[in-house]
This record gives sequence, C-alpha cells and structure tokens, in this order.
Amino acid sequence: MEILSGLSLAEIEQITDNLHASKFRARQIHNWIYLKSVKNIDEMTDLSVKFRDELKKVSLVTDVKIKVKQVSSDGTIKYLIEYPDGECVETVLMRFDNRANLTACVSSQIGCAVNCSFCATGKCGFIRNLTYKEIIEQVLTIQRDTGLKVTNIVFMGQGEPLLNLDNVLKAMEIFNENFQIGARRLTVSTSGIVPQIYKLAENDMQSTLAISLHAPNHEIRKKIMPIENKYDMKELKTALKKYVDKTGRRITVEYLLIKDLNDSADAAKELAEYLSDIKCNINLIPYNPTAKNDYQRPSNNSIQKFKYLLEHSGKKVTVRLERGADIDAACGQLRGKVD
Ligand code: SF4
Repeated sequence: MEILSGLSLAEIEQITDNLHASKFRARQIHNWIYLKSVKNIDEMTDLSVKFRDELKKVSLVTDVKIKVKQVSSDGTIKYLIEYPDGECVETVLMRFDNRANLTACVSSQIGCAVNCSFCATGKCGFIRNLTYKEIIEQVLTIQRDTGLKVTNIVFMGQGEPLLNLDNVLKAMEIFNENFQIGARRLTVSTSGIVPQIYKLAENDMQSTLAISLHAPNHEIRKKIMPIENKYDMKELKTALKKYVDKTGRRITVEYLLIKDLNDSADAAKELAEYLSDIKCNINLIPYNPTAKNDYQRPSNNSIQKFKYLLEHSGKKVTVRLERGADIDAACGQLRGKVD
C-alpha cells in the first residue's frame, strides 16, 4: 500500500498513471492531502466513486494514529502520534491570542542524544531519526484532526533537528511547496551543532535559525548543556556570524531563564556582550518547573530586570508566552511516551 501523505506531485502522478488516470487527478489528490487534509480517500469527493475504489486498492491517506490528545485551557493541543513501527512522538499546536497564526511545534527525532539537563526528551536517550514523511505527518495529523491550516512551523519538539538535517531540509521543502507555508514561517532550532550550522548556511532557504543558548558563558552552559563540551560558545559564535553573513537573516536566540543559575544581572550583561556583534532577537523563556529536576522559575521581577538589561544593549527582547503548561507541552517537557 502506498501512503499518500508525504508524496510529491510527481510521486502521486506515478500512482494515477498506473491506474490509467490523468495528471489532473494527481493534482486533485495532492490538494486533498495537503490543502484540505482529508482523513480518507472517500472524502475526495471530486473523484468518481469508481476511481476512489481503485485508488483505495493501492493506497491509504495515512498510516499514523493519534494515541493521545490533550487540550490545554489556553487552546494548545498536544498529540502523541504513533508510527507503524510502534514508536511515538509528540507534536504540539499553539495558538496565540490576537493572532491568526497557528504554529505547529514538530519533532525531528525519537528521543535525543544531546541530553540537555532541563529537557524531558534528553532523559530518554536517542532512539532513531524521523523520516521527512514522518515529520510531515505530524502537521497533517494536526490539520486532519482540527480542520485548520497550520501557518507556521517550528522544529522545537523532540530531537535535535540538525542531527537529522537531510530529513529536516526535505520536510521544509515540502512544507514550503506543498503546504504553501512561506520559508520565513519555518524555524529550525538547534542546541548548537556547529558543523551543521555551516551546512544550513549553504542552503538557499530563507527560514529562521533559532539557537538554544541558555547561558551567558562556557562555565554555566556546560553545566546544563553537554553539547558545550563538544562545540563551545566561541566556536558557536563564529558559526552564527557566518550564518548571518551568508543568509542575511537575523537569528533568534532562545534563553531559558532558570532561577539562581543564569538569571542574574551579571549574566544579562555577559549575554549582551556575547551577542553584541551577532544580528539577533532574543527570546526569554521562563523555566517551567517539572518533577524531574530541581530547577525553578525566576520571579517576574527578575525576568523583567533581565529583559531590561538586554534591551538596554539595543537588542529586541521578548518573553515567550507560556503555552500548554498544564498539559506538559511547554518547552523542554515533551517526552514522547505516556507516563
Ligand atoms: S532540549 Fe532539544 S537538543 Fe536538548 S536534549 Fe532536549 S530535545 Fe535534545
């Protein structure tokens, strides 16, 4: 059985050719999959019943299942999706008040080898990469379930996207071409895999790079992100500057604020100094306490003071709205399994 979700127009044309149907039929099927997000072939109502029956004999819309769905009081929806091999992954739909945007936070791997100390996924270890079709299925699952069209995609779910770069790039190409989501609405987040940042810079896409920095210096960063022992902040800075030079794009710097660890006034000043010659915006993310470690969220006063000090350095700084905290869909809380 051919799975239609994730196929290109040319691949769908091969199926319609085999069924002696026209290329126009392939275009109709393509639209039903990506723009109308149907759940099954019978919903493709502009195809004749006879043709639908033939298509059903050789293909299926999808082979993934929603295992768990949780809806937060703020409208965020978290899905646990099961692939045919039994592996599961989490994907999240976020809506922000006053904005028409619907953002899907997708996973790129099952588990993760990077093992950041604040992250639930890192605790599970690395299991396998997702294929580009499995990445795409996360967005199609959201669209099929809600009947809504996703407008923005962030690779900030489970896994390190740059350690699965080929599949991530192919998925981005399909999001751009088949889902008609502009490249600037696609964001790839990384913990700082330096060689892959150079590779990404060579790519033509105008997508956004987000770097999970989370520390103002080497000493603090290596306490919470073991990747700092492999690619330190000095090397990282050179790669980020190269990325900006090559693409002309502004980077997003993600900074998880953890009480008494990286939220002091000195940390803010040191961070401002580190970022002074990098074209970037800064996104502060107050830590969501979990039962899995001892980290705490800073007070609102310290968050505002930290923000003020960074803004003083001339950077645009936002404090990320917390979404889905009551269903463990907030940053660092995705696990990919049912507890
Ligand atoms: S924060 Fe990202 S890179 Fe770090 S362990 Fe979690 S999934 Fe991996």
